[in-house]
Amino acid sequence: MQCKDIPDRPILEFLVGLKGVWGNWFALRFENSVRHAMPKGTPDKLLLAKMRMMIRRKVVEGCCCGCRGDFVITEKGTDELLLPHQRAVVFDEAHFEVGPGTGKTL
Ligand SMILES: [Zn+2]
Repeated sequence: MQCKDIPDRPILEFLVGLKGVWGNWFALRFENSVRHAMPKGTPDKLLLAKMRMMIRRKVVEGCCCGCRGDFVITEKGTDELLLPHQRAVVFDEAHFEVGPGTGKTL
């Protein structure tokens, strides 16, 4: 499994659902853990890499040094959720070759 196999949208939706409470990346017993928005059994390293990628894209704010994270959705992240029919994975750098006019579907 790689970062690109984890869709952005559920993570963004999860952060919106926290209504301003900071997200962390702790165990599932923490209700505000972003782990809830990722595939079951996502390894910590990959989970943090994914969050780091989303922070780099400026759709999420937070820290991936290994502390609790304090993840929040940004205005850009909220905007992305509002785009109709947008598959968030299109935004991943790894998928830059897939775009309008290529005839490919994800
Ligand atoms: Zn930190």
